[in-house]
Amino acid sequence: MSIKVKQLNAKIKKIQKVGKDTFLLKLYCPHIAKNALAGSFIHLRLKSFILRRPFSVHRIEGENVYILFKVRGKGTNQLAKLKTNQTLDVIGPLGNAFNLSKQTKKTVNILIAGGIGVAPLVLLAKTIKKAKLDKKTVKVLLGAQTKAEILSEADFKKIGVKVDLATDDGSKGIKGTVVDLLKKELKALSLDTKINIYACGPEVMFAAIHKVIKNNKKVSAQASFEQHMGCGLGFCCGCVIETKDGYKKVCKDGPVFDLKEVF
Ligand SMILES: Cc1cc2nc3c(=O)[nH]c(=O)nc-3n(C[C@H](O)[C@H](O)[C@H](O)COP(=O)(O)OP(=O)(O)OC[C@H]3O[C@@H](n4cnc5c(N)ncnc54)[C@H](O)[C@@H]3O)c2cc1C
Repeated sequence: MSIKVKQLNAKIKKIQKVGKDTFLLKLYCPHIAKNALAGSFIHLRLKSFILRRPFSVHRIEGENVYILFKVRGKGTNQLAKLKTNQTLDVIGPLGNAFNLSKQTKKTVNILIAGGIGVAPLVLLAKTIKKAKLDKKTVKVLLGAQTKAEILSEADFKKIGVKVDLATDDGSKGIKGTVVDLLKKELKALSLDTKINIYACGPEVMFAAIHKVIKNNKKVSAQASFEQHMGCGLGFCCGCVIETKDGYKKVCKDGPVFDLKEVF
């Protein structure tokens, strides 16, 4: 089933600061709310920029779509200054989304977020839970540099999934990274457990996850890649990454790829 991508004007219902340099944007966007999947993204047009900026769908409530974003440069700085009732030119939903077809009641799903990479994983946790899987089969490993940069912990708990934390400075959770948490988790699970990993964060984190799991046939891992993007529609090839199967477009073939395809 192919999802119809539309360009539309979405009204800002709310924009609020939720953490260090991090904002939650609520958009009235019925088409995207109805059609987005966990891992889909939208492409926002900001005045004074030719290129749109891509953001993952973070949450969907009724006809509203939430975006969780971190201020990184001029575009996100401008986005953070927008006000309620202004409208944004949005294209979406875009991208391939996480593949949940390999779910069984016994699969253990480990969601791994590095920093703002948590953005698409809240909708994913909700989607997996909706499939009526047991509470124990979904676990979130949340990592950030400091306690102040941990995002969405309460959202995951509200959904009813267990969260383990890691910070670089040890101010919350273990002192270390989500990959340290993953190693601990894999040791605790029985050898015949089938594990699906879903990750979003920096590419160095994906490489480290792959290194840990590459020889384990019971573990598969998908990750949402954040590449610089041009058109977002598959025409300009500005967002390609090299895979074992040749160059792939993050906007059209991704943003979600199997880690074995990439590393
Ligand atoms: C599919 C996809 C989903 C994304 N989802 C989210 C999300 O949910 N929340 C969020 O905060 N960000 C997300 N991003 C990243 C976001 O698009 C960039 O942070 C944003 O475009 C930066 O715009 P800017 O004008 O503020 O920064 P610029 O002025 O363009 O750049 C500022 C800094 O950010 C870096 N940067 C710019 N674009 C990207 C990018 N695409 N990926 C990584 N680094 C970048 C630049 O290297 C530079 O260091 C996503 C990216 C992709 C491709």
